[in-house]
Amino acid sequence: MHEARLWEKAAEGRAHCRLCSHFCRIGDNERGQCGVRENHAGTLFTLVYDRVAAANLDPVEKKPLYHFLPGTMTFSFGTPGCNFACSFCQNASLSQPPRSGARIAGHPASPESLLAAALECGAQSISYTYSEPTIFFELVQDTAALARARGLKNILVSNGFMSRFCLEELDGLIDAANIDLKAFSEDFYRERCAARLAPVLENLKRIKAMGWWLEVTTLLIPGLNDSDRELADIAGFIAAELGPDTPWHISRFHPQHKLQDRPPTPLERLEAAAEAGARAGLHYVYVGNVPGNDHGHTLCPSCRKVVLGRRGFELTKIALKDGRCTHCGATVAGVGLP
Ligand code: SF4
Repeated sequence: MHEARLWEKAAEGRAHCRLCSHFCRIGDNERGQCGVRENHAGTLFTLVYDRVAAANLDPVEKKPLYHFLPGTMTFSFGTPGCNFACSFCQNASLSQPPRSGARIAGHPASPESLLAAALECGAQSISYTYSEPTIFFELVQDTAALARARGLKNILVSNGFMSRFCLEELDGLIDAANIDLKAFSEDFYRERCAARLAPVLENLKRIKAMGWWLEVTTLLIPGLNDSDRELADIAGFIAAELGPDTPWHISRFHPQHKLQDRPPTPLERLEAAAEAGARAGLHYVYVGNVPGNDHGHTLCPSCRKVVLGRRGFELTKIALKDGRCTHCGATVAGVGLP
């Protein structure tokens, strides 16, 4: 076990965790909501500093990040655990067991071994992903510092429910983030995720202000978050608060975990979401989890011609030079664009 960071002692031997917006107060021999931070005799420990549950070399487009070092590979890993309990979780076998007190599974790992693995496979970045990187913050912080010193970029793929203290600690270490905006209602976040919307909205604005490259993802679930009103609210928030250059990834739902009573998202609702994005003035709207759809390409914000063509996660066409459209010369937003 490794002593946790971002916590303080509280009354009656409790530990007050300040890592995420649940701000758990944890009694002796108890764990916080995420199930991976435990109080022993008044000291808070993380149970996942040396545990990795999944690690792979992925295209950066799979995070998804479409405007950050496109066409490169990112070494990706995650530990067990999550601070959310989404009924539709796509990685429930990884994220949920610690919440029910299960043994912490995974393979031994360290910041040094993870950096070595990333360098060995030629990755240009490390992605903290798969489960929820907030709950393995200490491992993120130490690995990201090593990676940065060796010239690798750092990517956070998160539900955005970290505390502002956590974000402040990561400032200067993280280069890009994909943050879920799962819905635009507190009811959805409370009933479907055991969390809250407001901290996520605040963190999206903070991340933008901190200067990390930011892309946003919404999994569209039939009947739960795909009304015209909600789509307009999400797209409007991104455009107004994060800026029209912020890419929005709309992802198709397939029955998962506890949410088996709904069909895959109809193509018509995915189209409606893409239209809501365009109406709000977003320059880059993508539809994911739909093989062969036309919404996977990056279009020039000015002439609307394809500047980055994709098939799945693979780049098939590049019509950019120094980040400018080769057709009309307009600038395309992003970091490390061809
Ligand atoms: S990370 Fe969040 S859920 Fe886990 S103990 Fe800390 S405040 Fe609670």
